[in-house]
Amino acid sequence: MTRPRIAILAMGGTIATRPDASGVMQMGLGADDLVAAVPALAALAEISAETVSRVGSHSLSFDQIHALAARIGALDADGVIVTQGTDTLEETAFLLDLLLDRDIPVIVTAAMRNPALTSPDGPGNLLAAVRVACDPWVRAHAAALGVMAVMLDEVYAASDVLKAHPTRLNAFAAPQTGPLAALVEDRVVPLSLPVREPMTRARARLGAAGRGKAQPVALLWLGLDEPGHLLEALIGQADRLGYRGVVLGAMGGGHVPERIAPLVTRLAGLLPTVVSPRAGGGPLLRQTYGGPAAEIALRAAGLIWGGRLHPLKARVLLETCLRAGLGRDAMAEVFDAFG
Ligand code: GLU
Repeated sequence: MTRPRIAILAMGGTIATRPDASGVMQMGLGADDLVAAVPALAALAEISAETVSRVGSHSLSFDQIHALAARIGALDADGVIVTQGTDTLEETAFLLDLLLDRDIPVIVTAAMRNPALTSPDGPGNLLAAVRVACDPWVRAHAAALGVMAVMLDEVYAASDVLKAHPTRLNAFAAPQTGPLAALVEDRVVPLSLPVREPMTRARARLGAAGRGKAQPVALLWLGLDEPGHLLEALIGQADRLGYRGVVLGAMGGGHVPERIAPLVTRLAGLLPTVVSPRAGGGPLLRQTYGGPAAEIALRAAGLIWGGRLHPLKARVLLETCLRAGLGRDAMAEVFDAFG
C-alpha cells in the first residue's frame, strides 16, 4: 500500500531543544533530528523533513508565519506537520488557518517536556500528528477540519485551541468546543467537525492579496478599575504609538469600566478597535445592557464586536484584516461571523 507523503517542517521550540554544556536547554535540533527520534514514522508515511527555523515560538513574527504558509502552499505532499514552540501555537495555528487554502491535513504540534527530561512528549506528539495526518477520516475531511493542533493524543481546531497552562503536560485545550478527535491505541477516533463558516467567510474577505507589511496591533487587557492611561497615550499621539489597531480584552459580554468608556469610544474613531472577551472566548452580548460602558452603546460608537474568539486570536485576525487592507465595515463583518 502506498504510504501518504507527509512533510515535516521544523520551526524550533522545546521539541527542538538540546542541553548546552551547562545543562541549559537551547534551540538546536532540526527536522531530521526530530524524525530520527521516532523510527515508527517510517511505517506510517513517506516522510520528508525540512528545518525552517530554530527559534523559540515566543520570538516568532507574523512575517515568519506568512512565509511558512507560502512554503506549505507550495509543497507537493499529502499532509504537513509543523513543529514549533508551544507558547504561541494557539496564534500561529490560527494564522495558518486564515492563510492556507489546501485540502490536505495541516497540523501543528509541539512539546511541553524537553528532550533531556525522562519523559519528553515531543516524539509521541510527532508520531500522533503523523498518525492523524495519515488517517482516512482526517484526509477525507481535511478542508472541513482546517488547520489542526495535535497535543497529548488530542486533535484541536486552530480557531479553538488554547494554551491553558505554562508547564503542565496537558497544557492544551479547546474549552469552548472540545477536541475534534482523540488518539486511542493506534486509532484516530473522530469526535466532531468544527463550524467552518466564519473561517470560510473571513478567508473569502481576506483574499490572497494584501499580505504585505506587518501591522502592529495592541492588545489591552482590561482589569478592575483600569485608569486608561495607555488609551490616553494612544489617543494623544498622532502616530498612535505606531499601532494600526487595538484589541481590548473586555469584561463579561463586552463591557469596559465606565470611567474609560469615553476613551474607548474616542479610540474607536481613530483606530480599528475590537472588543473581545477577556474570559477567553465565548460569544459576546449585543443587546442586553444599557449605559455608556456596555454592548449597546459601544457597538453604536463603532467598536468592532469580536465575537467568540479569544483576544489573542482576535489580535491575529485584526492584523490579517489590516494587512489585507480591509476597511472598518469589512473588518466588522469578518469579526461578526464569529458570533
Ligand atoms: N518558549 C519556547 C517556545 O515557545 C519554549 C516553550 C515550548 O516550546 O514549549 O518555543
